[in-house]
Amino acid sequence: MALTNTIYNSPVFQQACHQFDTAADILGLDPGVRERTKRPRRCVVVSMPVRMDNGQIEIFEGYRVQHNLSTGPAKGGIRFHQDVTLGEVAALAMWMSWKCSLVGLPYGGAKGGVMVNTRDLSQTELERLSRRYMQEIIPFIGPNVDIPAPDVGTNEQVMAWMMDTYSNHQGHYDPGVITGKPIALGGSLGRREATGEGVAWFVKAYLQDLGITPEKTTIVIQGFGNVGSEAAFALYEWGAKIIGISDFTGGIHNPKGIDLKAASTHLAQNRSLQDFTGGEPITNAELLELPCTVLIPAALERTITGENAGKLKCRLLAEGANGPTTNEADKILNERDDIELIPDVLCNSGGVIVSYFEWLQNLQNYYWTKGEVFDKLHRMLAKAKASVDETRKKYGCSRRTAALVLGISRVAEAKAKRGLFP
Ligand code: NAD
Repeated sequence: MALTNTIYNSPVFQQACHQFDTAADILGLDPGVRERTKRPRRCVVVSMPVRMDNGQIEIFEGYRVQHNLSTGPAKGGIRFHQDVTLGEVAALAMWMSWKCSLVGLPYGGAKGGVMVNTRDLSQTELERLSRRYMQEIIPFIGPNVDIPAPDVGTNEQVMAWMMDTYSNHQGHYDPGVITGKPIALGGSLGRREATGEGVAWFVKAYLQDLGITPEKTTIVIQGFGNVGSEAAFALYEWGAKIIGISDFTGGIHNPKGIDLKAASTHLAQNRSLQDFTGGEPITNAELLELPCTVLIPAALERTITGENAGKLKCRLLAEGANGPTTNEADKILNERDDIELIPDVLCNSGGVIVSYFEWLQNLQNYYWTKGEVFDKLHRMLAKAKASVDETRKKYGCSRRTAALVLGISRVAEAKAKRGLFP
């Protein structure tokens, strides 16, 4: 049943609810447990006054939504983006619940967001905003309550400022409150690469299932940020050709293969891919419809739509981003037997898995090598892939629904077993 009578109501929240309902119908969940499992547990809305460099005070709005706290402390990134809404953050929090559960992490799901275009801020303004956001959510988070991480528009430096703010409040160094930190502050080796590394791992595994070799593989990636660029480098190392990349300014197409190092250098120097000369400029819409073996949306939600889903020319659609495919597009893709889809909750789970490793290392004050991190990561990804593919066969459903069936069933079971308080 559509859940519209709520402050979270928005297209992306409805997208997440529809996905939930499809999986919950298969599971035949008890109605009481079903509604409890679906709805976000709580949210905080904060307004943050920040002194700008010109002396003026500007107020920013931010959110933290905790969707599920029944199976452990909540876990989920913090997004800084001008289009952030409460409904979007709630949908992202819901997906975190299923993702953590699917891959077997002892976490619930959460997400945070601040409505801001970081390109409009100086470094000092970004620092003051990051610290103020953390200050405002301190009563709701902690290493045993809710552990944030980076997402779109935030990075290791932002995590460092937030950890420092929390630690100052506690009166002692407390790195386990947040993950995705710099190595010098208790970050894990491999965390920066983890999400893209995981996406690349799934792409390789599913291409192997399809009998497609690296030299026959061409890749197109929407969003050359943390996830997109790390996936690009990992797949290039494997032997695939990256023929299209993009960012918010547009895309670059080069059928001979894009020089990824040159693209990264251009990005570091110019803060965007605009005017990068390593290929032909194209729009993001054109990029998605390029003929390729693998298409990786790694930017924002709802970029694969009812309009373009029928025109995709890839063999494998690997969802690096969260929620890139609308419900209309999903329906079209389910009817297309020429495209295999790796759903977001599975495909980008490498990020939260290594965040979990970072948290474990912080709690134990015992740090692992990158080899240990990646070895454990790959084993968890392989286990998740096997259980999703088995569940898909069992129910004869899409890979997305199979992943959600697994993620949702474990949360629902925990809620049912815990009972209802009071
Ligand atoms: P990021 O900020 O590092 O990069 C985002 C990229 O998308 C940038 O290149 C940006 O220019 C581009 N972009 C933004 N708007 C766009 C638009 N309208 N069209 C095309 N490109 C656009 O963010 P990220 O951390 O790489 O996250 C990307 C996606 O992956 C998000 O959906 C995020 O939720 C998801 N994700 C991230 C992590 C993580 O560990 N960072 C983990 C799991 C999932």
